[in-house]
Amino acid sequence: MKIRIGHGFDAHRLVEGRPFVLGGITIPHPTGPLGHSDADVLAHALCDAILGACALGDLGKHFPDTDPAWKGADSMRLLEACIEMARDLGFEISNVDVTVVVQLPKLSPHLSAIRERLSSVLRIEIGDVSVKAKTSEGMGYTGDGTGIAAYAVAALVRP
Ligand code: MG
Repeated sequence: MKIRIGHGFDAHRLVEGRPFVLGGITIPHPTGPLGHSDADVLAHALCDAILGACALGDLGKHFPDTDPAWKGADSMRLLEACIEMARDLGFEISNVDVTVVVQLPKLSPHLSAIRERLSSVLRIEIGDVSVKAKTSEGMGYTGDGTGIAAYAVAALVRP
């Protein structure tokens, strides 16, 4: 059995007037991530982890932000497309682990819903989906409300 590990990172600016979409759910908050799609930083980091495990480059290579087709897109669709690319190579996702870094909103009340959504999109058990939230203790762009970042790893297996 072949085992592949991939890592992904993403960050977006947080601005007023954008919905705060994270892991496929919308969380009430005065600001939201700015981007071409819905700017779901968790989804984008996870896409890059899956693509990385397959050595398929990154999200921007497959879904350029100059493409009007992806303007305002639900990033769960991007995630599904990345999963399909992995499956086309014969890989199945074994587990994923994500860390989101942001000061506010407090994410702990939403982690279960995010895990359930990812479990459904990835078609793996919820026990194989880990989502963690951290602050950067007020430091830097993730600490002062300017932005949000996410790190992800994905383990893929090919029987
Ligand atoms: Mg992004």
